[in-house]
Amino acid sequence: MTTLSAPVTALKGVGEALALKLARLGIEQVSDLLFHLPLRYQDRTRLTPIGELRAGSEAVIEGEVTACDVVKGRRRSLLVRLRDKSGILSLRFFHFSPAQQQQLRPGAVVRAFGEARAGATGLEIYHPEYRLSGGSDTSVDEYFTPIYPTTEGLHQTRLRALTQQALRLLESDPDALPEVIPEALRQRFQLLGLHASLQLLHQPPPEADMEQLSHGHHPATRRLAVEELLAHQLSLREVRLRIQADGAPELPSGRNLQARFLAQLPFALTGAQGRVLDEIALDLARPAPMLRLVQGDVGSGKTVVAAMAALSALAGNCQAAIMAPTEILAEQHYRSFKAWFEPLGIEVAWLSGKLKGKARLDAKAAIADGRARMVVGTHALFQDDVHFQCLGLAIIDEQHRFGVHQRLALREKGEAGGLTPHQLIMTATPIPRTLAMSAYADLDVSVIDELPPGRTPVKTVVVSDERRPEVVERIRRACSEGRQAYWVCTLIEESEALQCQAAEVTRDELTDALPELAIGLVHGRMKSGEKAEVMAAFKEGELDLLVATTVIEVGVDVPNASLMIIENPERLGLSQLHQLRGRVGRGSTESFCVLLYHPPLSNTSRQRLAVMRETTDGFRIAEKDLEIRGPGEVLGTRQTGLAQMKIADLERDADLLDQVTALAQALQGNKDITTVLVRRWLGEAAGRYGQV
Ligand code: ADP
Ligand code: MG
Repeated sequence: MTTLSAPVTALKGVGEALALKLARLGIEQVSDLLFHLPLRYQDRTRLTPIGELRAGSEAVIEGEVTACDVVKGRRRSLLVRLRDKSGILSLRFFHFSPAQQQQLRPGAVVRAFGEARAGATGLEIYHPEYRLSGGSDTSVDEYFTPIYPTTEGLHQTRLRALTQQALRLLESDPDALPEVIPEALRQRFQLLGLHASLQLLHQPPPEADMEQLSHGHHPATRRLAVEELLAHQLSLREVRLRIQADGAPELPSGRNLQARFLAQLPFALTGAQGRVLDEIALDLARPAPMLRLVQGDVGSGKTVVAAMAALSALAGNCQAAIMAPTEILAEQHYRSFKAWFEPLGIEVAWLSGKLKGKARLDAKAAIADGRARMVVGTHALFQDDVHFQCLGLAIIDEQHRFGVHQRLALREKGEAGGLTPHQLIMTATPIPRTLAMSAYADLDVSVIDELPPGRTPVKTVVVSDERRPEVVERIRRACSEGRQAYWVCTLIEESEALQCQAAEVTRDELTDALPELAIGLVHGRMKSGEKAEVMAAFKEGELDLLVATTVIEVGVDVPNASLMIIENPERLGLSQLHQLRGRVGRGSTESFCVLLYHPPLSNTSRQRLAVMRETTDGFRIAEKDLEIRGPGEVLGTRQTGLAQMKIADLERDADLLDQVTALAQALQGNKDITTVLVRRWLGEAAGRYGQV
């Protein structure tokens, strides 16, 4: 007997060819048909009097033919006039046969379905679906007609028939698709049942609210969205539970060490930094691994917070590691941590993928035998051949560049001591709350919601390419006053090689135009040593102007730089622009960001750049970004799990998230339910979350 879990080929009339087409829609098992929801519906459940028709509405009508003529307009067409008691309307066919003309002769009664539009003769329906009717036939469809997303060579009617078969299987064997949200919770949150929801969405009765259905606001759609979001949250929480079942070193606050560190800083911590550090200290003192995300806008001072947390680990006789997504950023951290920690007698080690030979062996040895207490590096720290003596705290900077599973790989790094390291994840991408609740359901969140004092917000101007010479003059002026500038090159092509080439060309042009300035260049294809040298020279003020590709996007910190030119900003996402712009405005002088676009600008681009001009609030920018680009882009391609949701839509369903969180809390730890839900909704992706 065919079951819901059988491959689609088990259905009547489905062979290999059809199965391939279905697979293109992600339909492999019979039950997948049930979760392949209609895009929209047609209402063929009632006859609409012609007089009630409006242009733009789809309807079934019935009337008597009063005239049937071939008319010569711009295109020859067959025009059929129909009349019922309430009004008159025309059917128009641009392709027609003599047989059709014969069939639709005056006196015939025709039942037709299509979209009415305002035409030359009043309301018209172009190429309606129609049949002759006896006039006494009052039967109409029992349900709204679903229109499914489909693929080439797969007709709606075919897909509809297959879905009907799946629905009948569901009726005959309801247990094949178990309801997992317990009755009590369903009542509390007023959720429809799973089967009733599926039934309704594939076969909505005429009294269903069409508006709600077509906009995804119907309780049945929402029920499924809740379930899908719940599946995502539960899988993440599952990971969290599994990690937290492990032991972690109980770390003291390390107050003495921290006080000595703070004493050498030229500033005091902000209130927000202090509060976040208190939250971290509570986590670190517990014998289960911390899983905490620190969110703080660009320039809010996350690095110092990381350093303070690291000192707790060191005071607890453990090692700490900080990992950054790019060489440049990692190198910058290395310099900061060395400058901060070596005076305290703490050895800082460096490890990146580009570190080779003896230097690499030495670094690994120092990490393994525990001489190196603080380790700074890139994702090279994840590699299997890197062993720590006792890793107590792993800090991941600019988390959005890393995927969930990379983050989890860290877990093994502490094993030497039999304990799992605490994890601190830092991000400057302000993630709208709705996204954060889903993407980071496995993490506790702290927010640094205050910038250090004395910063003046960056002034942003949007300038056309045609005014390039003025922009060059602006650089000349800023640099002659002792300040420094960035020039950031972007490129249409996704090719790094081309992007680097373009940056070289720009550097040459600017060198010609500004012969009195010292100009440096960094791009992704340079050796890490070279990059580090250029960055150091810029930081030391030996270079006036730094031409760079977007490699400098995250974290780079040169407070004296007060001018940034971004070429072709229309090609970047808003959050990325915000990150870039965050490289300036770090000192007390007023800073400027010039968005140098290449005309003509599309309307959306214009709007997006306007957002950058109007606000420096990372949260507002992120929300706009989410609106314009969708969650997949905002989180980065590696977080694809969320972007590929089948039914839920993080924007549309934002108001469901509190409910989903409450449900997840209630069901968390229930292995059976989690397993069913994760398999049902995450399928393949489940492996990514599950394997730890
Ligand atoms: P981000 O949060 O973007 O990583 P950083 O950690 O790079 O920010 O800090 C940005 C700059 O602010 C650095 O120059 C840092 O030394 C400085 N800074 C950090 N905390 C404070 C503070 N409390 N007061 C003044 N300056 C600070
Ligand atoms: Mg940073």
